Amino acid sequence: MQAQAFVDAVPLPCLLVDQTDRIYAVNSGALDLLGQGLLGSNYATMLRAPALLDALETCLQDKRPKVAEYFSTEGGQDITYRVSCRFIEPVDAKRDAGGVLVAFEDITHVAQAGQMRRDFVANVSHELRTPLTALMGFIETLRGPAKDDGAVHDRFLGIMESEAQRMNRLVGDLLSLSHVETEERVRPTQKVLLTDILNSTLNSLRPVVDEAAVTLEAAFCDEPIYLNADSDQIRQVLTNLVENAVKYGGSGARVTVKLSYVARDPSLRMTAARLQVIDYGAGIDPIHLPRLTERFYRADSHRSRELGGTGLGLAIVKHIINRHRGRMQIESELGQGSVFTVILPCIPLPNAE
Ligand code: ADP
Repeated sequence: MQAQAFVDAVPLPCLLVDQTDRIYAVNSGALDLLGQGLLGSNYATMLRAPALLDALETCLQDKRPKVAEYFSTEGGQDITYRVSCRFIEPVDAKRDAGGVLVAFEDITHVAQAGQMRRDFVANVSHELRTPLTALMGFIETLRGPAKDDGAVHDRFLGIMESEAQRMNRLVGDLLSLSHVETEERVRPTQKVLLTDILNSTLNSLRPVVDEAAVTLEAAFCDEPIYLNADSDQIRQVLTNLVENAVKYGGSGARVTVKLSYVARDPSLRMTAARLQVIDYGAGIDPIHLPRLTERFYRADSHRSRELGGTGLGLAIVKHIINRHRGRMQIESELGQGSVFTVILPCIPLPNAE
């Protein structure tokens, strides 16, 4: 078998190096990755990554498999490769001394997932540590300096209760997030009447809205919109968006929820329900908009924490909408309020053209 035919058949960028350190076969993937002119060259002059050189050199010497990481940039993106070096025994020991197969596997997604997991754990720990530290401090004070002071007890217990509630909300949102992420690939099959779900959700939000002295206006189309959905999750979407509109946009004193039927939505290319939650409050600086649905991303951290936010509400909304094959658009400007638009595929009306 020809060495060149062999590397051409490998579905990864790869090359072969012989015992004289010469690259004697290279496939097109490796040429694209490492540059032309590899064939016939000494590998040490062509592959400049120290970890890779080290792995290759030791593999040539001790003939045992070696793995190294190799980093490259393609189209402005950082790419991580896991490079495997495997010794190939000579077919005829009298005529050749064998060589090493060097194969490059793109593991960028694995590296990114690992980084995301680490960031997530760091974020959760940080979010929990703040209320925990406060609780521990208050307990210490109640046991020590404020031991016999009834008034201080009442005040501190009040603060401790709100810190414990913050942790409770965080754990609740983390569980919801994990639940919606697990289900994201399972398509909802329950046929539901959207207007009913929205009306009952708005009713249960009444106390929150009233407490904030906000007027909630609902403008729903007359058509009965049916869709295949998970009704609890649709409730959660509307709840999170309205709670945010009240929390952050409440200064505008008014929140509008609109529902309309779209015979053909250009982004989904199908019939859709268009749900909008509009507030007239402080708005969001457009620089934050692209990242707003990331876990723990807050446009205004101080305000979110002060208002009891966990930074997970919109991440949950995004996953639910993904599961329903929908889209979300956020439009906002500072001082101009915000419009959160959710577009969900729905069942075409029987009399629609
Ligand atoms: P949080 O628990 O902090 O409210 P979310 O994921 O629900 O987390 O929202 C992320 C961030 O988006 C919030 O911290 C807030 O800064 C911003 N935000 C969300 N909705 C609005 C809104 N209607 N008006 C202004 N800012 C908003």
